[in-house]
Amino acid sequence: MALIVQKFGGTSVGDLDRIRNVASRVKSEVESGNQVAVVVSAMAGTTNQLVSWARDIGPMHDAREYDAIVATGEQVTVGLLAIALQNMGVDARSWLGWQIPVHTDEVHGAARIQSIDTGVMRERLATGQVAVVAGFQGLAPDGRISTLGRGGSDTSAVALAAALNADRCDIYTDVDGVYTTDPRIAPRAQKLDQISFEEMLEMASLGAKVLQTRSVAMAMRHNVNLQVRSSFTDAPGTLVVNEDAIVEQEKISGIAYSPDEAKLTIQGLPDRPGIAAAIFGTLAENHINVDMIVQTAASEGQKTDITFSLGRGDLAKALEIIEASRGSLGFDGVDAKDDVTKISVVGMAMRSQPGVARTMFETLAERGINIEVISTSEIKISVLIAAEYTELAVRSLHAAFGLDAED
Ligand code: ADP
Ligand code: ASP
Ligand code: MG
Repeated sequence: MALIVQKFGGTSVGDLDRIRNVASRVKSEVESGNQVAVVVSAMAGTTNQLVSWARDIGPMHDAREYDAIVATGEQVTVGLLAIALQNMGVDARSWLGWQIPVHTDEVHGAARIQSIDTGVMRERLATGQVAVVAGFQGLAPDGRISTLGRGGSDTSAVALAAALNADRCDIYTDVDGVYTTDPRIAPRAQKLDQISFEEMLEMASLGAKVLQTRSVAMAMRHNVNLQVRSSFTDAPGTLVVNEDAIVEQEKISGIAYSPDEAKLTIQGLPDRPGIAAAIFGTLAENHINVDMIVQTAASEGQKTDITFSLGRGDLAKALEIIEASRGSLGFDGVDAKDDVTKISVVGMAMRSQPGVARTMFETLAERGINIEVISTSEIKISVLIAAEYTELAVRSLHAAFGLDAED
C-alpha cells in the first residue's frame, strides 16, 4: 500500500462536473489500495476575483485581512470535493489549513510553511479515509489564516507529501506535463518525460507557472517523488528528478517567459563607492525585489547609469522611493518602462557548450528584437525585451535551439 498526495489546480476543479471528475480519479487511487490525501485549489478565476475585491474595497494596510479574503476560495472546493467523494461511496473529510494545522511564518500574503502536524490526519488515512486539504493556506503564529502567494497550492501539496513521507506527489493540471515552453503560446512545444529539479527550479522562477517555484525547491530539499500530469487525460506526465537521473545533460531544456516585468533606469549617477548600496538597500528595506541589474561603465570622472528590472506591481512604489532620494543620490533623471518581458533560455547545456548566448542574441537580432538588459547564471540566460515581442521571441528561440516538435 502506498501513500499518495494528489493536487488538483483551479481549472481541474473549475465547475461541479470537473469536481466529480476529480472525485473519480481519487476514487480509483483509493480502489488501488492506496492511502490518499488530496490538495485542491480554488475554482479557476475565483482567487483573481477575491484579490481584486480585496484591492478595490480601499487601501489595504493590513495583509491579515487580505488572507482572510483570498483563502476562502479553497474552503469551497474542499467541501464540494468531500461531498462528491462521499456520494461515490468514498469516506472523505475536508481540512482547512488551521485545522491540520499547517504552521507558517507571519508574512501574510506570501507566508512560508514551517511545519505540518500530520498526527490526526495519519490516523484517519490509516482507516482508509481520504483527506481533502485546502491548498494555499496555513495558520500564522498570530493565530490567523495565512496564504502562501499565488500558485501556492503546489507548495501545500509538496509540503504535505514531505511531512507525510508520501510515496508520490502528483500535480494534476490543465496541461499533461512540463513542456519545453508554455504550450499555450508555442504550439510546437514538446512535453518532457523528465526534468531535473535544478532546471525546473529555474524554469519556474523565470515564469513557467506550471509549478510554483517554492514547491520545486521544497521537493528538491525533501526528495519528494514529484510528477506533473493532466486531470483530463491519462497521458503519462513529467517526472521531476535528480540531476544524475538525466541522461542528456547536453540539452537546452526550455524557454521561459515572465510577462509582468518593469524596467527602471537611474540616469547620471555620480560614480562613487556606496551608490549602488544606497539604491538597492533602500529598495530592499521597502520589500522591493530587484532582479537584473546593469551599470554602465563610466569613464574617469564621468557619471554612470544604473538599470534594473523588477516586478511590474512594484514599479510605482520604486519610483516614489528613488525620487525621494534624488537629493542624497544626486542623479540627473529616471526613466521607467512597464511594458517589458523577461525571456530566458534554460538548460544544463549552458555549462558545457559555448555559443548558447550567441545563438540567443543572433536569433533575437534577426527578428529585429532589441535586448534591453541581459543576465546569466550557470544554467540560464535571460534578456529583457519589449512585451509586444514576447510570443515571437519565445517561438523563435524555441525553434533556434532545436526544441520544436516535428510535423
Ligand atoms: P493550476 O491551476 O493547475 O495550478 P496553472 O495555471 O497554475 O495551473 O499552471 C498551468 C499552466 O502553466 C499551463 O496552462 C500553461 O499555460 C502554463 N505553463 C507555462 N510554462 C509552462 C511549461 N513550460 N510547461 C507547461 N505549462 C506551462
Ligand atoms: N488559488 C490560489 C491561486 O490562484 C492557489 C493556487 O491556485 O495554487 O493563486
Ligand atoms: Mg498553479
